[in-house]
Parts: sequence; C-alpha cells; structure tokens
Amino acid sequence: MAKISIDINSGTIQKDNAVIGIDLGTTNSLIATINPKTKKPFCLPIHGKNSMPSALYFDAQKIEVGSMALEKLVSDPKNTLYSIKRLMGRSFHDLGHELNKLNYKIVDNHDQLVQVRIDDQFYSPIELSSYILKELKKVGQKELQKDIQKVVITVPAYFNDSQRQATRDAGKLAGLDVLRIINEPTAASLAYGIGINTDQPKTVAIYDLGGGTFDISILKIQQGIFEVLSTNGDTALGGDDIDQAIKNYWISFYDLKLLSRSKNQLLRLTAEEAKIQLSKDKSFHKKIAIQNQHITLELDRDRMNTILSPIIEKSIAICKNALSDANLSTDEIEEVILVGGSTRTLAVKQAVQKLFSSANVNDDINPDEVVALGAAIEADILAGNRTDMLLLDVTPLSLGIETIGGLMDVLIPRNSKIPIQLKKEYTTSIDGQVNLAVNVYQGEREMIKDNRKIGEFILKGIPAMPAGIPKIEMSFMLNADGILQVSAKELRSGVKQEITLKPQYGISDEQIKTMLQDSIKFAQSDMDERSLAETITEANQLIYATHKFMRDNPQLLLEKHIQTMSGLIRKLEDSIHKKDRLTINNRIEELNEFTKPFAEQVMDHQISKALRGKNIT
Ligand code: AMP
Repeated sequence: MAKISIDINSGTIQKDNAVIGIDLGTTNSLIATINPKTKKPFCLPIHGKNSMPSALYFDAQKIEVGSMALEKLVSDPKNTLYSIKRLMGRSFHDLGHELNKLNYKIVDNHDQLVQVRIDDQFYSPIELSSYILKELKKVGQKELQKDIQKVVITVPAYFNDSQRQATRDAGKLAGLDVLRIINEPTAASLAYGIGINTDQPKTVAIYDLGGGTFDISILKIQQGIFEVLSTNGDTALGGDDIDQAIKNYWISFYDLKLLSRSKNQLLRLTAEEAKIQLSKDKSFHKKIAIQNQHITLELDRDRMNTILSPIIEKSIAICKNALSDANLSTDEIEEVILVGGSTRTLAVKQAVQKLFSSANVNDDINPDEVVALGAAIEADILAGNRTDMLLLDVTPLSLGIETIGGLMDVLIPRNSKIPIQLKKEYTTSIDGQVNLAVNVYQGEREMIKDNRKIGEFILKGIPAMPAGIPKIEMSFMLNADGILQVSAKELRSGVKQEITLKPQYGISDEQIKTMLQDSIKFAQSDMDERSLAETITEANQLIYATHKFMRDNPQLLLEKHIQTMSGLIRKLEDSIHKKDRLTINNRIEELNEFTKPFAEQVMDHQISKALRGKNIT
C-alpha cells in the first residue's frame, strides 16, 4: 500500500517524491524515472517527445526552453542559446577554438568563468543550465503528479571538478537536491546491467558519441559491481562536428560565400538532417534558398563517410588509449555498448565493430535514452531500493601537493577508484614556521611546474616549533561526484583547519591528452630532474642543520673544526650551484662524515628530525 504523508503545520497532503535521473546533454536533455510496478526505468515525455533540446530562447518578455527555443535558431540566432554544456565551469581561455562553434555572444571575463550576453543582460552558464533543469522538473512533476526534489545528474567522464561543481550548482539553482553527479558511461552501463546476477565477470567498453562530446570507458562488471578500469574522451568531439564538417563541405562545394548568421544556421540544420537521413538512406537532397537563389544541396553516404572519417578516427584513437590505460587488448573486450545519437551513423557502428572485432556490439537500448535510464537506476540505488548493484568510479588524473624543491607529491594516484580518502604526514622546513602554504596540483609529471595547479590555501596558526617537529596531516577526499576536499591538521598541537578547496577553472581535453602524453615522453628526464631536486633539498637541509649546529654548540667546536665545516659547506654549495647530482651526493657524504661524531654527542630528537624530515615549503 502506498504511504501518504501529511504536513502537520499546513494540514496538506504531501505528494511523495519521485526517483529521478537526468541526462543534461549538450544537444538534448532527458528525464527518467522508475516504474514502481515493473521496477524498470523509462523516460518521461517532454512536450510530446522523449527528449528536450538543450536550447534557450530569450525574447523581450520571457525565456523559452526546448524545441520552441530551437525553432528560433534560424530566425533569431543571436538570442538563441545551445551547447551551453560546453561553457560549464570554463573560462574564455579554456574554450579556445570551441568558441567558433557558438553563434551567440560569450563574454571574456578575464580568466573567470565565462558569461553569455543577451542584449544588455549577462548570464552564467550555471544559470542557463538551471533554466533547462527547471523546465525538466516542471514537465516531470506534471507528468508524474509527484514532487521532484532528489535527482541524479550525469556528466561526461572527462568533466573536471569545476565543471562537475557547476552542474551541481545548476541543479541547486533549479531547486533540485542533487544526490549525485555520475559519469555518463557509468550510467549507460547501469542501464544495460550486463553481468548483473551472474558470477561471470564481463569486460565492457562503452562508446558514447553524442552531440558535443565523446567518451569511452572500459568497465569490469562482476557480481553486480561496476569497476571502471579506465576512461578517456574528448569534450569537443561529436555529432555537432559532423554537422559542421558537412556544412563546410557544402560551402566549398557550392562555393557559398559571406553567409548571414541565419543562413549559416539553416545550413547547419540541413547538414544534420542529411546526416540523420543517411543513417537509413543512401542519398540526400534538399532545395534551400540561399544567396537570393535556390540551390539543391546533395550528399550521398559514401561522400559523407569520407567527410566524417577523420572524426571517427579521432574517437578510435582515443579508444586505443583507454584500452592501453586499462592494460587490455581489443580482443579482451567482450561487450561494447553504443551510447549517444551519433552512434546511429552506420560508419560509426562499423568502425567500432572493426576495432572491437571479437566483441558483441550492443545497440538494443535507444542510444539517446540509455544514459538517463541509467541515472534513474542510480537514483533508485541511492533511494535504497536496490541492493543488487554497487558502483565504483575512477579519477582520470593524479592529485597531489607541492613539496620542497618544486616536487609533485601524489596523494591520490590517477585511475584510483572513488570515493577515496587518503592521508599523509608532512612537516615544516624552517624553525618557528607558523604558516604553511599548501599548493594542490593535478597531473602526472614529477615537477609541479609541469602540472596543473587546481588550488591553494594557507594553514595558519601552527605553534612555533623547530623545523621538522610539527606533524601535519594532509587529507585528500575525492567524493563520488569527483569533487576534491583538502584538509590540513597539525597533530602535535591539535591545530586544525578544515579547508574546502575551491577548484579552479576548466581544463580542455587537449590539455589532458597533452599532459598524459608528456608524462610518458618526459618520463626519463622527469626522473632525473626529480632526483636532482631531491638531492638539492637534502643538501640544503644538511647545510641548514650544520649552521644551526655550529650556532647552538660552540662549546663543542674548536676553530679548526669550524673552518673545516665551513669549507665543506662552501664546497657543497658550489656543487648545488653547478647542479651536478653525483658531486652533490659525494659532498653531502663528506660533510655528514665530518659532522657525524659531533652530532652524535648532542643529537637530540629535534635535530635528528630536522635532518631526516620531509618538508613542504
Ligand atoms: P545526444 O547528445 O546523444 O542526444 O546525440 C545527439 C546527436 O546525435 C546529434 O548530433 C544528432 O544529430 C545525432 N543523431 C541523432 N539521430 C541520428 C541518426 N539517426 N544518425 C546520425 N546521427 C544522429
């Protein structure tokens, strides 16, 4: 029997909350729920369709959302917004060449997150996305006759912290309680549920080519546990690029010049129409009015396949990288799941089947709906309705902090399963140090200068102690949404500061790819640089400790001892200057040999720590 709750204050009957999953897509957005009887997920109709274009239209009085907005793309393009997802959590600089794909006005906010300008109004992408989410909420509530509050929203696997946070904020702004942000490929695998309720492990690749983004994930599914072995992708690759490529082909083939904004849009929409038609027919032709004349745009399937082959090849190369990250060969993949509207293109299916030649390519579930359906299942799991499934996810880049000498010290390694919490102890490098700067980085290189800084803070109020004595525990917690929280605590004094790290702005796929490739390319020179930096740090610490020793213990030292020590320090400083690791090492040993007998006489706990401790600047 269904439960009915009554609000005691108002005496009104409260409608029960629905279990909701939302696929907030670049091109289209969907909302799905679970049928309480069959326990199966299904997509709710939106304005009579299964999905809603992620488009907004601003007219003088109101904001239209969905297909009504999309219709204005041709007649009033500068007030019609689409592909807002590309802007989420990103700065003008991050967007780079992607800006060319957007016909509306994007404001350069000097390294801040971008805004969109409509007439004299400015809007953040978070606000714009919230209009889409509000509309989904409104339509869903009407359809279900239930309150919609708690939702799961999906994002591409390669969304960084800032983009995930922006998506969560958009949900909040729309009056939703975002239970969790999950990766789209993970949601898709949930919808298929391959391997559930069987002991046979399965290795699965999810190939997701949507309107604006491409993701590939390699999952291992065993006894209801979905383990993500690797993920890879490109947030600037999808059906939009195919449309653009067809449009460009027509522009050059028919020698079309100086097209107005609306004619450009008309060409783009006709290109999309051609692409969709060529998924079933062999040829396409359509008469359109352009440059005061009527021309018939033509395209056949073979020509289209040639035009889109570089786009498909790009995705296949990314698949190979994901396989190598997962340490798998193509023939170890048993199932492939196709996700995203663009996988309906025959050439895409064929290329995927060719790459994974021994796998079963699954396209049974509507590739547009599969992510939303999986999100609804995840919402159902979080509502405690399903105990037969568990979810594990991974982080695509390593996370760590800067330690002395400009080194990257990794706390959470790349491809770690999330949620995850890791702790590590550090200490200070200077006597009486009361503040500690913590710089947080993302990336695979040995030196922080080659990685990406994602945040910084200062731990203040450490009681003055000799170098090496404070015990500072750093804790990194990456939650299930992929959002990082960093906290620092000085254990001896109990000084505790919990700091929530505000993630910095977006990172492009190109940058992620380059970072991963560079870490392989520069592996040897990075190791050499790291060893040199470590040796120099050791030498500097020894020099610091020896000076301190000479200052604190004059009664133990004769003039000749002081002279020898000073001479050895100068030689060591000289070798540091020359950056010759072997010589520095030899001179560290020389100085150590000489000071050891003296140090042993008085070496207290503090000095021994100072000589050994691992320090943060
Ligand atoms: P999604 O982001 O998953 O909604 O995918 C939308 C993309 O799929 C758009 O670029 C559409 O043009 C494309 N698409 C939809 N249907 C087809 C089709 N039948 N053949 C090729 N592409 C399609």
